[in-house]
Amino acid sequence: MKVLIIGGGGREHALAWSCAQAARVSQVLVAPGNAGTAREPKVHNAAVAAEDTAGLVALAARERVDLTIVGPEGPLVAGVVDAFEQAGLKCFGPRRAPAQLEGSKAFTKEFLSRHRIPTARSATFTQASFDEGWVRAQRTPLVVKASGLAAGKGVVIAASLTEALAAARAMFAGQFGAAGNEVVVEEFLPGEEASFIVMADGEHILPLASSQDHKRLQDGDAGPNTGGMGAYSPAPVVTPAQHQRIMREVIEPAVRGLCADGMPYTGFLYAGIMVAPDGTPNVLEFNCRLGDPETQPLLMRLESDLTALCEAALAGRLDQVSAAWDPRAALGVVMAAAGYPDQVRTGDVIEGLARAAALPGKIFHAGTRLAGDRVLTSGGRVLCAVGLGDSVGTAQTQAYQLIEPIHFRGMQLRRDIGYHAIRRERACGAAPGRD
Ligand code: AMP
Repeated sequence: MKVLIIGGGGREHALAWSCAQAARVSQVLVAPGNAGTAREPKVHNAAVAAEDTAGLVALAARERVDLTIVGPEGPLVAGVVDAFEQAGLKCFGPRRAPAQLEGSKAFTKEFLSRHRIPTARSATFTQASFDEGWVRAQRTPLVVKASGLAAGKGVVIAASLTEALAAARAMFAGQFGAAGNEVVVEEFLPGEEASFIVMADGEHILPLASSQDHKRLQDGDAGPNTGGMGAYSPAPVVTPAQHQRIMREVIEPAVRGLCADGMPYTGFLYAGIMVAPDGTPNVLEFNCRLGDPETQPLLMRLESDLTALCEAALAGRLDQVSAAWDPRAALGVVMAAAGYPDQVRTGDVIEGLARAAALPGKIFHAGTRLAGDRVLTSGGRVLCAVGLGDSVGTAQTQAYQLIEPIHFRGMQLRRDIGYHAIRRERACGAAPGRD
């Protein structure tokens, strides 16, 4: 069996590595991939950009690919799955219409309110309809969001009304390009965040193990928002009761609602949830793909054949399969380039990868490229070191040990990934919890 992974980040390295574990998989192509996927057994890079829909379809047809899995949101929102389907090729991910759940926060807020799924109170504006009076009547802090895709950067948590108004005006003025043509302004929700990711086949739902990521750049959740500086699985905030609430109040109505709205959802569906102090699972956002870096620890724990799960979903048979998980916890720490998340410097030599490869755990590559024998930084998030352990605490120890030999100029990382879970573990002397 031949598999194609679309994308070139850490999530795609983890997807390629996971698919390559299956004995029936003979080859995994990654378009375009990175230095990590270039060196992975059974895995090969193909020099086709993730945005080049026609090139990807041609590649899959030429290479007789049996299954394609789409990593990033851009190609999904642009309709890559529709193009593969038209060419008679199997491609796991949502079509363009339901991918709007990620492509348009304005669409999602309307969808959530129509289907009575809990979320922050909000209003959506264009530059022409912007109502400063409405904003001035709100309590601070306020959250201002560019509606379209902004690589995780289009959200401003404004402490004051002045800041909120300035953020909205900057978005309308083109700070995030067309993504800011519509702006969502919503109330700030207190609570603890959790990522809840499922596979869906249009009708049935297979929840994946729970996970949680750290969005802020610096320790203690300080500094600017990023694409994610680390993640772990399972996330103890998702207790069995919380799991049931999220399924009943968020995921099931969302999948049913999309079907009722004439756009059945097949693919990974990621709900970013803020669990309120009273336990209400408020939706912060939907993503139409796996999270990065949640995928890296998540797939380290997946014992089932991911390709078989995707095939079952494409055949509408997700109710007939289950996913088996390593009971241990996994924790991933991102090593980011100098300047991230703003002006990123690239081209720095990464040292110590061979020494790290001899240690327990796994290093997934993200923004890396090969230059002869050397591996250079080529993006904001460069590597993700994933450790496994009987608790989130021991997984964290293994992940940081894995990082010790690694060095590149200006490397940035957090030293406290998993602290919420570790604090809980210490408080109740507990092992990882449930998925
Ligand atoms: P989003 O891309 O909408 O998930 O927002 C990015 C991050 O901003 C989230 O992971 C939260 O940490 C934060 N955030 C977004 N919306 C809210 C909200 N209404 N209240 C509090 N924090 C929020």
